[in-house]
Amino acid sequence: MKKLSIKLRITLWYTLLMILIVASVLIFMVFISKQITTTDTKNSLLKIVNQNLEEVEYDDDQLEIDDDFIYMQNGVTSLIYSQKNELLGGYLQSALELPNEFEDGQIQTVDINGESYYVYDRLLSFKKNESVWVRGYVKTNNESSVIQSIITAAMWLFPLIIIIAALVGYLITKHSFKPVNKMIASVNAISEGKDLSERIEIGKGEDEIHQLGDTFNAMFERLETAFKKEKQFTSDVSHELRTPLSVILNQCDYTLETRKTVEDYELALGTIQRQATRMSQLTSQLLSFTRLENGVEKLDVEQTDFSELLTAICEEQQDISDSSPQLIYDIQPDIFLSIDSMMMIRVIVNLLNNARQYSKPDGHIWFELKRKDTSAYLTIKDDGIGIESEHLPFIWDRFYQVDSSRSKNQEGTTGLGLAFVKQIIELHDGEITMSSVFGEGSTFTIKFPIN
Ligand code: ADP
Repeated sequence: MKKLSIKLRITLWYTLLMILIVASVLIFMVFISKQITTTDTKNSLLKIVNQNLEEVEYDDDQLEIDDDFIYMQNGVTSLIYSQKNELLGGYLQSALELPNEFEDGQIQTVDINGESYYVYDRLLSFKKNESVWVRGYVKTNNESSVIQSIITAAMWLFPLIIIIAALVGYLITKHSFKPVNKMIASVNAISEGKDLSERIEIGKGEDEIHQLGDTFNAMFERLETAFKKEKQFTSDVSHELRTPLSVILNQCDYTLETRKTVEDYELALGTIQRQATRMSQLTSQLLSFTRLENGVEKLDVEQTDFSELLTAICEEQQDISDSSPQLIYDIQPDIFLSIDSMMMIRVIVNLLNNARQYSKPDGHIWFELKRKDTSAYLTIKDDGIGIESEHLPFIWDRFYQVDSSRSKNQEGTTGLGLAFVKQIIELHDGEITMSSVFGEGSTFTIKFPIN
């Protein structure tokens, strides 16, 4: 059964069900017909015999049988017997040996010469103690011939109905499964051709099969995006590593070419050190990314006084930075969150560094933590250079830098900062959004759920 196609399996089950239903209906029909014909035959026997009672009289010691006496009708034969079992009226087939006992008002079923009969007797009494028996009999196979016809009809109808039902059932299932065959063909074409931009085309529809097709298409869409991102990421990583590497190699070639002065060597080593530091930052940040993404590195979440943590960061940042841009902070106390403190410090420092890095002379950074309902809102706002609106959708992408010439000249910029920030916030079930006006400044807002 397991080897059969679903189409065939459905047809088989359906046909089996049809066999059961049709067989039950036919058996029921035969049973009901038997009931009806038996009742009909018996009723006819009773009716004729009882009617005949009216047609028999005893007048002047003479038995008088009226002309309306029914001797033979609907297979019922009527007879009149004396008390001494002498046949007084009616015609009895010679070979038929009806029972000698009479039972008033009872239908007897008797077998004579291999045939079955109903026999019905009525005692008709007159004055002067005279009485006669009026007897009627009828073959029971009167009814069995009807049932036989029904059974014969059923014998023909039964296979015919089953064949038609199986055929129609198979055609319906085949038609319903047409989109599935199309889907299989499309999926095979996609997997063989490895072209994830292809989609399953099964037309419009709301049924389960179309929903399955839509789900497949959505999955291909996600896979395609993921593959594209992966490709982009690999090429970005190689590109980002190639630049500092070629600078290092150039510096080495240059210094090894001819003897140089000590100053030249110092200059070259300084460049090599800067580029190596950049590569080291890049690789460690990428490592953190992939470790978190693959679940190798897990968040070490603890209930933490977030207000206290942020106050400490702000105080420290004020101490290490010079007066510009000025950090102004407003932190609502006693906001507790379940967070990984080390990761969260990296997020905040990253955002504060960006605000400082992209600031204008005499700029400001406003840092605020507030509770609203069941959420905590952290806002980091600056009045720095801002970001042009066309760059906004991409700033969370890995390696995306708005003005790469400017960013790359700055130490410690890799274009990975915001992507990392977003990843950490989302791992904390938080949400980060940003708005920016070019030339006026940027605002980053993080929303955290409070347990
Ligand atoms: P980077 O290491 O280059 O700072 P990020 O991922 O942290 O990379 O930021 C991506 C880009 O977003 C930066 O190149 C910068 O142009 C822009 N950016 C980030 N923060 C700010 C900010 N506060 N003000 C202006 N531009 C910003």
